[in-house]
Amino acid sequence: MITKSQLASLGLFDAKVPRYTSYPTAPHFSNDVGAGLFGDWISGLAPGSAISLYVHIPFCRRLCWFCACRTQGTQTDGPVAAYLETLKAEIALLGDRLPEGVTLSRLHWGGGTPTLLSPAMMEDLAGAIFDIAPMGPDAEFSVEIDPNEIDAARLDALARSGMNRASIGVQDFDDKIQQTIGRIQSYDVTRDAADMIRARGIQSLNADILYGLPFQTKERMTESVQKLLALNPDRVALYGYAHVPWMAKRQQLIPSDALPTPEQRLELDETARRLFLWDGYAEIGIDHFARPEDGLTRALKSGTLKRNFQGYTDDQADVLIGIGASSISKFPQGFAQNASATSVHTKAIRDGQFSIARGHVFKGEDALRARLIEALMCDFRIDVAEIRNRFDTSQSRLDAMFTEADRAFPGLLQITPEGLFIPPEARPLTRMIARSFDAYDLSKAGHSSAI
Ligand code: SF4
Repeated sequence: MITKSQLASLGLFDAKVPRYTSYPTAPHFSNDVGAGLFGDWISGLAPGSAISLYVHIPFCRRLCWFCACRTQGTQTDGPVAAYLETLKAEIALLGDRLPEGVTLSRLHWGGGTPTLLSPAMMEDLAGAIFDIAPMGPDAEFSVEIDPNEIDAARLDALARSGMNRASIGVQDFDDKIQQTIGRIQSYDVTRDAADMIRARGIQSLNADILYGLPFQTKERMTESVQKLLALNPDRVALYGYAHVPWMAKRQQLIPSDALPTPEQRLELDETARRLFLWDGYAEIGIDHFARPEDGLTRALKSGTLKRNFQGYTDDQADVLIGIGASSISKFPQGFAQNASATSVHTKAIRDGQFSIARGHVFKGEDALRARLIEALMCDFRIDVAEIRNRFDTSQSRLDAMFTEADRAFPGLLQITPEGLFIPPEARPLTRMIARSFDAYDLSKAGHSSAI
């Protein structure tokens, strides 16, 4: 059994480690990729292939203090309506480039707050998307729903548009914690939103909850998780709150001295984790839980679980295209990211061009290392046979990488001719172990805490 002092000596409690939703991670993107190359990647898709789309809505009615998302507060619909026109123009640009017969595997609206769109705007946006690419068989259309910013008319519009998975943010149900993080959202409001979602036949419900918040204790964590379990979500993401007030200025409103220590964070994470497992959820990777019949659980069992910018996914499409300011697209050739500032993004689209500001073209061992890291983050194991089947690499090259990881985490990893395995007691270190396969790991700063 690995002890807290061993975890501490390996740097778990002070390490700043990427979440590895991509490899290389976004801070390592450069101006390698521009609108021209991005357009070529789209045109080069196989006719009739399945792709996924992410649509970013960077507006909120309120700006919660804990949230590090890049989003603009707005009380009026004017900026949102103007942005919607930009999105529709960007979708049309994409449609001009897409080969015949492309369908959607996954469609996700995230933000910000996608549900601040009016019902008419929602249907307008969905219509523009389905005009260029209809939903394919077994496609999923998911939307991030703010329980404070939703009503029957908007849910009706989303249901009519084909939404079949809803995602609600919870953070924590405790009043004092909610006041301290600047996000008031009562249990009743959240439960009513979940009830309204299910009343429209939308059976798949995701929820996010945070550990590591100010004033959070094991008792408060237990109470919040039990309330969340009463809503019976199909999937739960249990994320550690990342306190980075030097990057996210709003977090300066949160008292640092009320935050749990790294050791307490580990206990809070473990408290919530146990409750989800007791309630019958399967553990998915480092921070998700899913009902046994959920797609993520099935993907885990069949060895097809993947990682993308939203976390874990069972999406098998090779291409994810990001629409909207700051969105990131992924192709087998690399990554492309839209301009982050809404104004810059809008100007490019109005000029008839994609707004790609940066990206990365895979080269050398990038694709191999991306898969090694994804395999660790999803399955806690690297299967040598699978890797050698997919990549032009040798046993000795993999052995050398495994030896390097073993040197960084002596005695903790199980390494055999078949591969590398992270045993359960070492899994709090998974992001750090994955980092030992990261050839771009330059800064070791600016990421969230490893626990
Ligand atoms: S938590 Fe949601 S509503 Fe609050 S600022 Fe972040 S994106 Fe906006």
